Amino acid sequence: MISVEEAQGIVIANLAGPKVEEVPFRAALGRVLSEKIVATRDIPPFNRSGVDGFALRAADTANVPAEFTIAGESRAGGEMPGALPPGSAVAIMTGAPLPEGADAVQMIEQCRVSADGRKVTVLDQVRAGENFALKGSEAGSGEEVLQPGHRIGPAELAVLATFGYSLVPVYRKPEVALLVTGDELVEFDENPGDSQIRNSNAHCIAAQLKYMDIEPEYLGIARDSRDDLRSRILAGLQRDVLIVSGGVSMGNYDLVKDVFAELGIEILFSKVALKPGKPTVFARKGDRLVFGLPGNPISSLVTFECFVRPAVGRLCGLKKPDLLRVKGELLGDMRQSPGRTSFMPAWAWWQEDGWKVEPLRWKSSADIVGFTGANAAFVFPGHLSLLKRGEIVDLMLLPDFFSRQR
Ligand code: AMP
Ligand code: MG
Repeated sequence: MISVEEAQGIVIANLAGPKVEEVPFRAALGRVLSEKIVATRDIPPFNRSGVDGFALRAADTANVPAEFTIAGESRAGGEMPGALPPGSAVAIMTGAPLPEGADAVQMIEQCRVSADGRKVTVLDQVRAGENFALKGSEAGSGEEVLQPGHRIGPAELAVLATFGYSLVPVYRKPEVALLVTGDELVEFDENPGDSQIRNSNAHCIAAQLKYMDIEPEYLGIARDSRDDLRSRILAGLQRDVLIVSGGVSMGNYDLVKDVFAELGIEILFSKVALKPGKPTVFARKGDRLVFGLPGNPISSLVTFECFVRPAVGRLCGLKKPDLLRVKGELLGDMRQSPGRTSFMPAWAWWQEDGWKVEPLRWKSSADIVGFTGANAAFVFPGHLSLLKRGEIVDLMLLPDFFSRQR
């Protein structure tokens, strides 16, 4: 059986390079740049005051208090001011251009304006270059301001707006199809019969994809029959990535792998030393990727984060889409039957002396209710049967870690 890391390596090695497109500015948030972004003008476009005050020559404040004639005003959005006459100062507002000849701004708090408004007395010295930003000092026209691979967040959107990018070059998001399988399943808004359960995996997986800004195409519930599986899997192969839930273990009705083989879908692994999630399948047909996730709800959730996220994230152009991993101190004894690496639900938080990990009680890899209190999963290495309170464990922060509260 291969390890989680080996399996992740196989997934990453089989990814096609991400494809590119251009999107309108308003659709760029959350996307990943496929090309560098250059400044289309100098920013600031003029010597720009950082304070409200008076623009002047710093040398004229060598002896303070010093009196200046007020030669005019420069306001943000107003006309460009004329040159600064010798011995005078120009009233200036934050964001406004400095007049030609001024090399400093003294802030209004250090200035006293005469009753008639014609003169200003500057009370404190100011050094050349103080309280303003030089034209082009944040970015010069033509300079690279964002690199390819950079994810567009609020600050990046501000940069794109600053330079007038109405079209933004980004990596194309992969199209993802989602199929669940099982004779026992009904949809959440149906009444299950005595031997039936409601389909929860489709919603869990769709939500996990949504956290990655991907809206999957839902292909419904396939019954545990070759014909039904075949036609729905064929439909899913139209997309870049197909995720199939259930039907991948050893039972008499676990037919997904057989149908993959029948359809010429090459299986790259079908067993991982992972708990929960041993029967995870990764396969491909041409450049189409296919994941077969075990049907148990937690197996599905964990294997998505271990294998689907790294793949889909990279196809979106992200360099490191994997969940954030940190090390933390375990706050309780934990046991397992050794053999496979386990991912256990936990509540984790940061304290001054490091991350703390409270293991959560849960019954099994089917216990979705037990998992709802988790904001992280910690790693129980396969060769160990006991982890003692106080030991340092590896921890994966779940995607909504920062929005979860207790
Ligand atoms: P399987 O991987 O198909 O053998 O399913 C393993 C377990 O997960 C069984 O108890 C199934 O009933 C359950 N299961 C499979 N698919 C789903 C689903 N979509 N939603 C909730 N539970 C499921
Ligand atoms: Mg099944």
